[in-house]
Amino acid sequence: MSSCLFCSIVSGDVPAKIIRDDERTLAFRDINPQAPVHVLVIPKDHHANLSEASTDPELLAAMARTAHEVAIDEGIATSGFRVVFNTGPDAGQTVFHVHAHLLGGRGLGWPPG
Ligand code: 5GP
Ligand code: ZN
Repeated sequence: MSSCLFCSIVSGDVPAKIIRDDERTLAFRDINPQAPVHVLVIPKDHHANLSEASTDPELLAAMARTAHEVAIDEGIATSGFRVVFNTGPDAGQTVFHVHAHLLGGRGLGWPPG
């Protein structure tokens, strides 16, 4: 999708701080970090949101594996981390290419705002 920001990051047309790149997924630092570690994990294929991506369980497994590997690399796998899929208006989704937020490096409040 040429008009999609995250597809443009996948294609290299928009720069990003990419920290992991495999066959199906890409992980890069969020431009407006909400925690010391704030990484976005996306599929390389375009799916608008979790509802669409959930038709492909292997893709979700690949995203979870990437998130875990990044958590290990960033040194937060033991201290703890959170993985969030904002989906739809009430959750505040702003980019309509499915992405998992990987957050950590500080205590994370619950319930989230
Ligand atoms: P959402 O609100 O859809 O769950 O999350 C979108 C995320 O994308 C936000 O945390 C926002 O800071 C991040 N973001 C928006 N534009 C860019 C960009 O151009 N580059 C990067 N790396 N992150 C972005
Ligand atoms: Zn896209």
